[in-house]
Amino acid sequence: MTLNAAEELQFSSPAGEANYVAARRKYPAQAIVDLAVLRDNMRHLVDVVGGAHSGTAVMGVVKADAYGHGLLPAALAALAGGATWLGTAQSHEALLLRKLGIGADRCHILTWVYNGMDAPFDELIANDIDISLGSLPGIDAVAAAARRLGKPARVHIKVDSGFGRNGFTPAGFDAALAKLVPLAKEGVLHIVGQWSHLAVADSPDVPEFVASTDRQVETFKEFTARMEAAGIPPEIRHLANTAATLNRPEIHFELTRPGIGLYGYEPDPAMGTPRDWHLKPAMTLQAQLGTVKDVEAGHGISYGRTYLTPDNTSTAIVPLGYADGIHRSASGFDMQGAKHVEKEGGPVRIMTTKGPRLLRVSGRVCMDQFIVDLHGSAAELGVHEGDTVELFGPGRGEEFAEPTADDWARAAGTISYEIFTCLRNRIPRLYEHAADVLAPDDLAKLDPASLL
Ligand SMILES: *Cc1c(COP(=O)(O)O)cnc(C)c1O
Repeated sequence: MTLNAAEELQFSSPAGEANYVAARRKYPAQAIVDLAVLRDNMRHLVDVVGGAHSGTAVMGVVKADAYGHGLLPAALAALAGGATWLGTAQSHEALLLRKLGIGADRCHILTWVYNGMDAPFDELIANDIDISLGSLPGIDAVAAAARRLGKPARVHIKVDSGFGRNGFTPAGFDAALAKLVPLAKEGVLHIVGQWSHLAVADSPDVPEFVASTDRQVETFKEFTARMEAAGIPPEIRHLANTAATLNRPEIHFELTRPGIGLYGYEPDPAMGTPRDWHLKPAMTLQAQLGTVKDVEAGHGISYGRTYLTPDNTSTAIVPLGYADGIHRSASGFDMQGAKHVEKEGGPVRIMTTKGPRLLRVSGRVCMDQFIVDLHGSAAELGVHEGDTVELFGPGRGEEFAEPTADDWARAAGTISYEIFTCLRNRIPRLYEHAADVLAPDDLAKLDPASLL
């Protein structure tokens, strides 16, 4: 019997269970995404903006392979939860969504990162994908593609209200309007939206950041007024990411763009925990232990001997490393190690015959594996090779000692976003509750081997 530290899986059918067995034979770790949780998070975000008929729509941001959760399954679950827009940074992902069968009759798709000289604007316009415009060469290139096709391009004018990334600055906006106004009048461009991005909406605890967000909102409104005065009022204004969707109802406008909230996390631990916002993490990352063995006190663990076992103990190999996207910065050092630095490694939930234990990466994370000091005898704890351990999961409350991606982010000095997006695709992605969430024709779009 092997022990399992992750939540028991609910298989939809014997085929689902067979898929799980096959995935475990193929790879000793799995990223399991609960599509019912994704759908429910989106339902909640739609409720937060006042429901389906509030005049505010919700975009599921599915950039970067849906923050590592899998582009198509996450997009379909977001639509099932009431999203009417999808958003991707890179244009190839927007095109992929259309190719995989999410048609223009189902939802709008916006894309915003490209190189304006080589981007496939013809294809984007032909596939009814909305394009962000934030540079003068971008306007020219999109207009030229629309003319070639004889079809207006749907565009959203990106303004830099203070983020300092994409979009027209207040000083550069007259030049943009001078190009946009005639193109809109001629019908080459359909100016659907005006939008911008917030820099610090996830820090409601820092008064100076709150003031900075207020200034961004004012600047955004000034841009809107200038567009209106030029005769091209935007139909849809959008500014709110997850943070502002949750904590700034006054700036929901006609559309909000939550990303991390869909996946079940708050944008920054300064905002509290997912539970505080009625969100639930959708992904569980689990692995099956490799070698479990006894070692003596003072044994050096991993490269650099940054961790020396404080006592006689047992260690276990978790067969995931930085080549899987486990951050090397989540290594764990102890004072006895050669470097004399103390730093907690990333957390791992391990089931023992005495209940769950929260243990940590001990020593350096290697390319394909890391080591955990069990702080006890594996024989006494009942821990064996093949046991399933959990790196992070839904965070089922205190008594479960269940780590989340926020805990890994703390250990690695980063944010939950980077924890998921770094997970390489060699780790199988498996989906729970797909048949409960998706209509049969959507279910048929997914890789059948990925369904539990
Ligand atoms: C990523 C992104 C979002 C979503 O941000 P979250 O913090 O994940 O909600 C929204 N808008 C733009 C432009 C983005 O790049």
